[in-house]
Amino acid sequence: MEKSENVLSVASECAPLVKTGGLADVVGALPGELAGEGWRLRTLLPAYQGLVKRLKSAKVVWSVNKLMGGPARVVAGKTLKKDGSLDLLLLDAPHLFDRPGAIYLNSKGDDWADNPQRYAALSWVAAEIARTGLSDGWRPRILQAHDWQAGLAPAYLKYAGTDDVASLITIHNIAFQGLARASLLKRLRLPATQFVKDGFEYWGKISTLKAGLMTADAITTVSPTYAQELLDPEFGMGLDGVIQYRRDKLYGILNGVDLKAWNPKTDRDILFPYGPRNLAAKAKNTRALEDEFGLTPGDGPVFAIVSRLTHQKGLDLVLDGLPALLGRGGRLIILGSGDAELEAAFTKAAKTNRGRVAVHIGYDEAQSHRIYAGADVMVVPSRFEPCGLTQMYALRYGTLPLVSRTGGLADTVIDANEAAIRSGVATGVVVAPDSLDGLVRGIERMCDLFADRTLWQNLQKRAMAQPVGWGPSATSYSTLFKSLLK
Ligand code: ADP
Repeated sequence: MEKSENVLSVASECAPLVKTGGLADVVGALPGELAGEGWRLRTLLPAYQGLVKRLKSAKVVWSVNKLMGGPARVVAGKTLKKDGSLDLLLLDAPHLFDRPGAIYLNSKGDDWADNPQRYAALSWVAAEIARTGLSDGWRPRILQAHDWQAGLAPAYLKYAGTDDVASLITIHNIAFQGLARASLLKRLRLPATQFVKDGFEYWGKISTLKAGLMTADAITTVSPTYAQELLDPEFGMGLDGVIQYRRDKLYGILNGVDLKAWNPKTDRDILFPYGPRNLAAKAKNTRALEDEFGLTPGDGPVFAIVSRLTHQKGLDLVLDGLPALLGRGGRLIILGSGDAELEAAFTKAAKTNRGRVAVHIGYDEAQSHRIYAGADVMVVPSRFEPCGLTQMYALRYGTLPLVSRTGGLADTVIDANEAAIRSGVATGVVVAPDSLDGLVRGIERMCDLFADRTLWQNLQKRAMAQPVGWGPSATSYSTLFKSLLK
């Protein structure tokens, strides 16, 4: 492109500032990756408690007296990240976002009751910025909305009749659909005429994700396989009909990982940096990890999980398969939080298998790096997985992924079957989703591969050479953006 074009990216989280999952990593990485393709992205986020203070050169660029119950302004500024800086726009609306605790949940662990208003406000402001621009003269040509939290942004834009800004919505996980009571219609500033099946009505409720899917000029999701799966009732979670209706505008673009933040050669969170040529240093990280988690050293592989503990991730199957894993000399480390039942079950498993199973219930970014570096196998047995980042970090750190054949997992890991080993392309083990037998066989196959040290190191080197960066995907986004400008 001759000159750079402006894009407004709207999301509820963005690494390194606020993160609950992969969405944040992707939202945080895209601006840097697309800058090289000639796009200037600014990211609009809620100003959760304490965020405004973290902005450098902060400046108010938009304001309004009343936004869903209180005054609001947008503060523009920069924040530093490992490989540069991010251009942020923070929606500072204290009545909606300045509160302690988790971003989506209250202290009891329930969704904030006003989540519909909070994220409708975010989407409303995004659409206003797209319609009229900011006081510093900046106006986007494209608005990219991420997930249900930003789903109303393309809808508000469309309902306002704006046709000189294109919009797209990116589905990071269709399980979250932004459902709200119909009685909120007016408060969310939505037209009653669109509360119909062909609009945003979903079984008597408002769905902000559906609103975005019905109105955006394009829909992207985070892997080619998930794009196909979404057309299927089993994965579409009730919105497969909408996806089918809009399938000519649907694109599956694989997420990449931030190669600078996730690099075992330069990672400051790990004790012994390493590359494919000195895997002996990786083994030192394994010893350090065993110490950190109180595992007894052994001959079998260290299996690890870094994850939200939810039904989606299929981790109940790992609990059921634990006897097989331990029977083969494997050990297991879990870093995660989520469902109380899963947290309790893993904690109990650690108590009864001291030295062989260890658990940290919580969220710890630095520790996650030490696990990617020190573990031998990363287990991701998801029932569905739009893209998944953990298996990609694992590949990059020479930690072989054991994954189920679904979504982005299927797009990024090549099963070490005989043919793939012979052709020199295998990078992990791939098993059928939602199958205990399948997972147990996968665990056993991993242990067999691990026992053959030469083969294992070859697999590690190949895993580390996988192109898990943004390169081709940034180009795909850029091509799509260009087509939207026309
Ligand atoms: P999802 O977005 O569904 O949670 P992804 O695999 O796309 O799954 O992304 C998960 C991201 O969150 C990864 O960066 C992973 O390392 C990180 N993560 C998950 N749980 C934890 C945790 N307990 N501590 C640190 N990082 C975590």
